Amino acid sequence: MSDHPPTLPGVSIAESSAPTAKGATSQESADPPTARRIALSPSRAGDFRQCPLLYRYRAIDRIPEKATKAQVKGTVVHAALESLFALPAEHRDKERAIDLVAPSWEKVVGESPELEALVEDAADREQFLQEAAKLVSSYYRLEDPTRFDAESCELRVETELDNGVVLRGFVDRIDVAPTGEVRIVDYKTGRAPSEAMESKALFQMKFYALVLLRTRGIVPAQLRLLYLASETVLTYAPDEDELLRFERTLSALWKAILAAGASGDFRPKPGRLCNWCDHKALCPSFGGTPPPYPGWPDSTTTLDSDTSFVEQT
Ligand code: SF4
Repeated sequence: MSDHPPTLPGVSIAESSAPTAKGATSQESADPPTARRIALSPSRAGDFRQCPLLYRYRAIDRIPEKATKAQVKGTVVHAALESLFALPAEHRDKERAIDLVAPSWEKVVGESPELEALVEDAADREQFLQEAAKLVSSYYRLEDPTRFDAESCELRVETELDNGVVLRGFVDRIDVAPTGEVRIVDYKTGRAPSEAMESKALFQMKFYALVLLRTRGIVPAQLRLLYLASETVLTYAPDEDELLRFERTLSALWKAILAAGASGDFRPKPGRLCNWCDHKALCPSFGGTPPPYPGWPDSTTTLDSDTSFVEQT
């Protein structure tokens, strides 16, 4: 357990205007997109790195996956924290935050009624809500949301790199200090990763940091991951050179995705995460046969799926 002050190093976070976005191809919006271009999201980039065939099934074939209770609990907690920051700072006490859990569940189920089946009966629903409330309660061991305002929550960000790859994603929260320093915050409802898995967690945060560098022209002072289940915080201060190197990494990754997309050669890459893969039955590494390759989507198809209401935990 840790108790971290909700400030950037030496800087209090307070209500602040966002710097103006730069560049005709960059945008930030809390609204749902209208026209969409083929894009790379942190999740899909991670999929391709983990297993190209998994990327294909998720991004191109778009084979549905079954939402898990843990994922939906994460979504409910994210929604409750988003609603919390919409309240005036003085009303963001823990009891109010916990009260937001049940309405957040109703909202999630209202948008996707099939998720109701994840809870078996009233008692199971109650337990589910209590577990979500416990995570919201744990959030208060990490930050005091009455002491600062978020600049934005659940912000859709997008930018196009020089080589044409569109980066797109949703940032849980952005804080801006009066001095202009920016902090990117991500809530994780799972436990903090082992050291070996930290780089995977930071991949997503560097992705957002790069998008902010390209859209706002600033290097975020801090990337901050809040692990609610273990009540721990992982912080990281990126520098511009590192983000530019990361940009080259993403460009190379996109080139590899395009090459696989053109040939249809998305190879399975078995690993320990296969145990959690919904597509094992269609995987040649486990005796399955992939369906015929549908071909690379046209330019208006969305290839990211971070717009899904189900948060990764
Ligand atoms: S089972 Fe493993 S190797 Fe096969 S598609 Fe899923 S992640 Fe890839």
